[in-house]
Amino acid sequence: MKDLKDEELVNLARHTYLRLDDTIGYPVNQNSNVVGFYDWYTKTGLCDFMMDNVGDPFDEENYFVLSALGIEKRVIKMFAPYYGIPLDKVWGFITNSCTDSNNHGMYFGVKKLLSETGKMPIVYVSSEAHYSNRRLADLQNLECRLIDFDEHGSMDPEDLRRKLDPSRPALVVCALGTTFMGGIDNLTAINKVLDEVKPIAVYKHVDAALFGGYLPFTDHKDLVSMTKMKYDSIAVSGHKFFGIDEPCGLFLTRKDVYAAQTSFKVDYLNSNMAMISCSRSALSPLKFYWLMTHVGEEELRRQAKEFLDNAEYLHAKLTEIGYPAWRNPLSNTVYLKRPADWIVKKYTLAGGKIPQYDGPLCHVVVMQNVTRVILDRFIADIKSSLENK
Ligand SMILES: *Cc1c(COP(=O)(O)O)cnc(C)c1O
Repeated sequence: MKDLKDEELVNLARHTYLRLDDTIGYPVNQNSNVVGFYDWYTKTGLCDFMMDNVGDPFDEENYFVLSALGIEKRVIKMFAPYYGIPLDKVWGFITNSCTDSNNHGMYFGVKKLLSETGKMPIVYVSSEAHYSNRRLADLQNLECRLIDFDEHGSMDPEDLRRKLDPSRPALVVCALGTTFMGGIDNLTAINKVLDEVKPIAVYKHVDAALFGGYLPFTDHKDLVSMTKMKYDSIAVSGHKFFGIDEPCGLFLTRKDVYAAQTSFKVDYLNSNMAMISCSRSALSPLKFYWLMTHVGEEELRRQAKEFLDNAEYLHAKLTEIGYPAWRNPLSNTVYLKRPADWIVKKYTLAGGKIPQYDGPLCHVVVMQNVTRVILDRFIADIKSSLENK
């Protein structure tokens, strides 16, 4: 850093390093899983020009030459088994972010439902789900009904039953890992309500930005299995559990969903473009590929176990000192009574207000970089704030 003359860039680097250990309120993994990638990328000289994954990774005959579309397709096929999607049925691509994945989930869902019924669907999503789903419903001009959630942050299936309109197709967005409380929508219960109320057609999109990264590497992988949970598409972030160092995401669905999309034959790309974006990053698919070939399943399994253990540790320690804190099973999010302002600021905690709980709350998301040393320091600060009252 010494010979770097640009003061602003030096300051940015310094500031980032200084705040790294104390930023524990957001679900991003600051232990990059793709460190070695840049060696390969610079040594091959590929960093000197622009590769573009423009087009459809499953349309092999029409790959753009300067792309990594072949690797992208391999990545989708590597991930399909983790989400219980048969290899001969899967279609998907790497997105700009989980919001982008959710946008495609809703857009594809609308087109699929329209093709089946000729009617526009109603979107059902819990009010604890990530705000992007409501924003996207607004963007796509969709009628959206917000469903209540229980004290664990999961969608209330009985409220869904009350609000379902059986005369219109239902586009249900299920949150697997809600943003603030780390609640998991119960797909089995939701499926039961849908089977009983029988809307004229149903499409289920799963927003699993954070939990969809690690659940496949735990004993609870069935929760994100398309075969077991009968959903139609899933969205997962690349920069949350997977530790890719820039925003990106997975979008996985089935070929029959893809086939129901409006055909846009784009002559100059010689391809049918179902994706909303034209140019897409070639780097994110390469990083996903690096993750699966150089980090691999066993290490991801280890990371998942370790951070869930650490989240349990944080919850247990806060409970031990009598500090109100909660954690849902299978969640690496611990939410707690909002501490003193200086603690909120020091640790960049994310705030929230949940009707079922008295007063303002905050949460800590125990990602791979949030070690016990950091957690012990946080707990000591909470403890001292109680003693100095
Ligand atoms: C983070 C998150 C999103 C948004 O994902 P981005 O990759 O940041 O766009 C959507 N849904 C849930 C549940 C999230 O946790």
